[in-house]
Amino acid sequence: PTSFIVFKAKVYTEPPFIADLITFRSVINMIHLLLIVVLGCLTRVDSFSSLSQTPGSIAAETLVQPPQQFRSVDDLAAALHLKSDQTLQIESSVKLSKGLIQNKLRIYNNGVPIRNFILQAISFKNGTFNGAVSGWLPPPVGYINSTISKSEDELATITANIANNYSSGRSDVEIACAADLTNHTCIKQIDINTTTGKAALVYFVRATLSTNQLIRFPRGIVDAVTGNVITSSAAISRRKDHNYGGKSCDIIGDIVNIVSKETTCCPELKGGNLKCPGPNYGPKKKQICLNATYKDGYVILANKNVEVYTLDNQVDLRQGKIVKFKPEDGPNDEINGASSPAADVWYYVNQIFDFMIESNVTFPHTPVRAYVHFADKFENSFSDGTNMVFGDGDTFLYPLSAADVVAHEFAHIFVNATRVSNFRDESIGSLESYCDIFAKSFSAYLNPDGKVSDWTLGTCVTKQDNTTLRTFDDPTRGGFFKDNLTDLGNSFFYKGLGIFDRAFYCIVQEENVPINDAFKAFTNAVLLFWSESTGFLDNACGVYRAASNLQLNATSFFNCFRNVGIDLHFCSLVRTQ
Ligand SMILES: [Zn+2]
Repeated sequence: PTSFIVFKAKVYTEPPFIADLITFRSVINMIHLLLIVVLGCLTRVDSFSSLSQTPGSIAAETLVQPPQQFRSVDDLAAALHLKSDQTLQIESSVKLSKGLIQNKLRIYNNGVPIRNFILQAISFKNGTFNGAVSGWLPPPVGYINSTISKSEDELATITANIANNYSSGRSDVEIACAADLTNHTCIKQIDINTTTGKAALVYFVRATLSTNQLIRFPRGIVDAVTGNVITSSAAISRRKDHNYGGKSCDIIGDIVNIVSKETTCCPELKGGNLKCPGPNYGPKKKQICLNATYKDGYVILANKNVEVYTLDNQVDLRQGKIVKFKPEDGPNDEINGASSPAADVWYYVNQIFDFMIESNVTFPHTPVRAYVHFADKFENSFSDGTNMVFGDGDTFLYPLSAADVVAHEFAHIFVNATRVSNFRDESIGSLESYCDIFAKSFSAYLNPDGKVSDWTLGTCVTKQDNTTLRTFDDPTRGGFFKDNLTDLGNSFFYKGLGIFDRAFYCIVQEENVPINDAFKAFTNAVLLFWSESTGFLDNACGVYRAASNLQLNATSFFNCFRNVGIDLHFCSLVRTQ
């Protein structure tokens, strides 16, 4: 069986592996994976809802408006009628024009953060809030004993069991133990049931499980009192059956500690693959300088932004070694039609940092780690929220080191740092789409004229002609994705990534909003308006409000969301001053 979907321009055949997964359990979803697109409903949703519909929630702007001013978050909290055991904290901030700053605010109940119900408030440089607020306040939280806790061991067992529950009855899936988990994260939170408005103390747990046959991403919301799993998901990706012999490779040195006396240089080597050759790297005028770190006669693909590791066909990220080579030898990692996946990933991630600086977006969590040559003939790429991992492809794909694929995976790390998590189905559709939008905007940035050259993604990694992974202008091409909320129904919400992809196309191509402006509106929405499990409606509302705050033509955004079945009449624009 194959583990991918390739979209032909006209013909689409359902891959057997996808059908296999769906049959065995309809609740498996694929998170973070660019190519594998399988998703199940966590809960059956009969209509799309906004946080505004939660019983007892209140729109913040009905309590506070400009020109009221507040000298501190505590003063603002009091004006919003937060209880004495609740505090408001700034979680992130973005500069707007005219010296204004837009802040994302999180409500804490006895020191425990409340999921989902975030607020936005605008402040001056001196920290005074100008009364412009938005977002929905949660219903009153009754008494919650937040000192109750579960040990990390207990939560690790629960997390491993989540993974096992999603693969029960499968003889080909190894049983996971707590000790197998990597990147295990447990965050104590208060979860508000959006149907009843009731609050509960929970843990949000997530981890990566990487074994020889599978990669799994279990995650769940666990009741802190009973230990019951309230809701969960577990993405599964299959590796190819293969003997992991490991090829001999003399270019890889030990992990280096970069200290002093290092410089940068432009090693001469080829990038790209047979379908999309280039860039041509080197020191000459018409070549692109890789700006690699150079020390003691070795080129090292590590700097303050990114560290590129090679896994040399292994699957355990801990076995990764920083790519290091003598300039005269080159990285020597040509495979499956690509000249040097390591050099390409290095180049594109560094370019992404330049792109983000130019777009005025800060990314604090550096250096990021990028792993190339993951497993053997792995036809996919993924991010576990912290690392980017790229396979070498095989029959259907070239190595997944193309500019837009790298940018898509990078975007997952960026999004993860904002605490917006791919969890509820609708947020998966929204976030996958944001990663597509990030990738498309980055591709445009790489073009000399800064404009979009075509509205596809992943075209350089597919081997067949006329195949691609995304089509923004018509996401439904290929028959898998939906591009209108009214068509989505109860189908797998991953299919919904076409909704925002299509809206983005409309905003840029049909409404003529410059792509970087549209990108900034979506990015500010992710940073300030989207929260853990917000769905299509609230996320579109966030983009609309972010666009308005950036002084963009908000009507263009309103119209394009209407075209994809999202009516934003419930989402009022709030004055910024
Ligand atoms: Zn993705």
